[in-house]
Amino acid sequence: MQGQMMDYQLTITPLLERAQRLFPKKEIVTKAGPSLERYTYAQMVERVERLANALEKLGVRRGDRVATFAWNNSRHLEIYFAVPCMGAVLHPINLRLPGDQIAYIANHAEDKVIFVDPTLLPAIEKLAPHLKKVEHYVVMSDTVPDGTTLSPVHAYEDLLKGVNADHAWPSLSENDAAAMCYTSGTTGNPKGVVYSHRAIYLHSLGLSMTDSFGLSERDIFMPVVPMFHVLAWGTPFATVMLGTNLVFPGPHLQARDLAELIQAEKVTLTAGVPTLWMGILNLLENERYDLSSLRGMIVGGAAAPQSMIEAFEKKYGLNVMHAWGMTEMSPLGTVSRLKSYQMDLPEAEKFAIRAKQGTSVPGVEIRAIEESGREIPWDGKAFGELQVRGPWIISSYYNDERSADSFQDGWFRTGDVVTIDPEGFIQIVDRAKDVIKSGGEWISSQDLENAIMAHPKVLEAAVIAVAHPKWQERPLACVVPKPDFKDSLTKDEILEHLKSRFAKMYMPDDIVFIDAVPKTSVGKFDKKVLRVQFKDFKLPD
Ligand code: ADP
Repeated sequence: MQGQMMDYQLTITPLLERAQRLFPKKEIVTKAGPSLERYTYAQMVERVERLANALEKLGVRRGDRVATFAWNNSRHLEIYFAVPCMGAVLHPINLRLPGDQIAYIANHAEDKVIFVDPTLLPAIEKLAPHLKKVEHYVVMSDTVPDGTTLSPVHAYEDLLKGVNADHAWPSLSENDAAAMCYTSGTTGNPKGVVYSHRAIYLHSLGLSMTDSFGLSERDIFMPVVPMFHVLAWGTPFATVMLGTNLVFPGPHLQARDLAELIQAEKVTLTAGVPTLWMGILNLLENERYDLSSLRGMIVGGAAAPQSMIEAFEKKYGLNVMHAWGMTEMSPLGTVSRLKSYQMDLPEAEKFAIRAKQGTSVPGVEIRAIEESGREIPWDGKAFGELQVRGPWIISSYYNDERSADSFQDGWFRTGDVVTIDPEGFIQIVDRAKDVIKSGGEWISSQDLENAIMAHPKVLEAAVIAVAHPKWQERPLACVVPKPDFKDSLTKDEILEHLKSRFAKMYMPDDIVFIDAVPKTSVGKFDKKVLRVQFKDFKLPD
């Protein structure tokens, strides 16, 4: 027997139309220099329709890729809706990538139009001779700045002035591509991930569930995670669907700018990577801000240290919502939220649970596979590579031969090594390529790094595998001392500090001091650079 339901296509268009009908008075604010620009959802939707008409006039057709090179702001939001709703494909480009990778991405995606923030113009001007498929550049401002070498080039506001304010949206299929993002390419060129309308629709519902982030119309949401990084974790689509007030920080991402904005706009929920919150925590030590409007800070992209979660809560009454996900997963995977019966546990245990990456949200299935190919037991001890499946997880990379290795029997291989405890909470032990395989044992580079970074004289530490004749691989710790201890910190001090925490076989075989840990475009440690640098390093016997 079959169910008898409408064949209703899950596309982004009705989400925009809902906002237009129900929430015309709600507000969108963008920080632009010292001032705040604000307008209503009614104005936003009107401009989205004008933009779609303008893009059509420029020759954008269904399936064409339209790229952005921009910070988080309201024009960027308009592009986020105009492009997919007209049946084209939104492609935000990570502006922190090296130039050759940006050119690779724009050519691989065959971007036809690129929108660019005026402050980012020089970077695109430099790359333009290499961008083979681009037919139009649009500067996101009132006028085209004098002397730009881009051509043909238009001003965003001129395009909008020249067209009508209503647009008949085409009916789309839910499996049509709506958007794409590239991974940050820690190995080789970035890989393309294409999101369908259906994935974005369902993911928006996922973000709104009470047991994930409970995103709501009543929130005032500030996305700090860039719109060029996994679509700002999908939050622009979910917030417009719900009619949530939005606060965009523009390029102003210093801790002080963000704290001021939260205070002034009474932001209730925000999202970004841990380094950002560490910065805010640091600021709060010395300066006073009223951040009491915040009901939550969504932290993901890298592990949120337990000490940070505790400090926010104990000192400032602020709630860190720790989550894990990936570009390939739209990105929502797990959220670390205590179950009702865990609320009565002793405080220390509760914080330890919240520092894990959490349980999978409805819509995401998980399993972890050990080296022998068997699924690991959920005992919180056994290690395995995490695999996932669900309606907002990719089934292949876009036009990329490297796809095959990433899937196993319909599951996506995350490349994260995890334990899963009996309550279903995953804990990321390491990236598969970072784990150190010593004899038959796996050593977590992340555990060692966290322990070394807890030393008061250490600024940063990255631990990598170095070849070893007997053990196959052994850990080498690359340590950056805090400036005051640059000449005085010794290897022995660090080893002494680790001794009480790790058994001998998990200790680093050697320690080297370096000036800085190389970083990726999204601010994570880039250990492949260190692996190359220390390829021939000879460990002591
Ligand atoms: P990229 O791969 O482009 O660096 P992603 O944001 O897609 O960027 O990175 C996904 C990876 O980031 C995950 O596979 C995981 O290794 C790491 N990650 C994300 N969230 C967390 C978290 N809460 N704790 C630890 N690692 C995380």
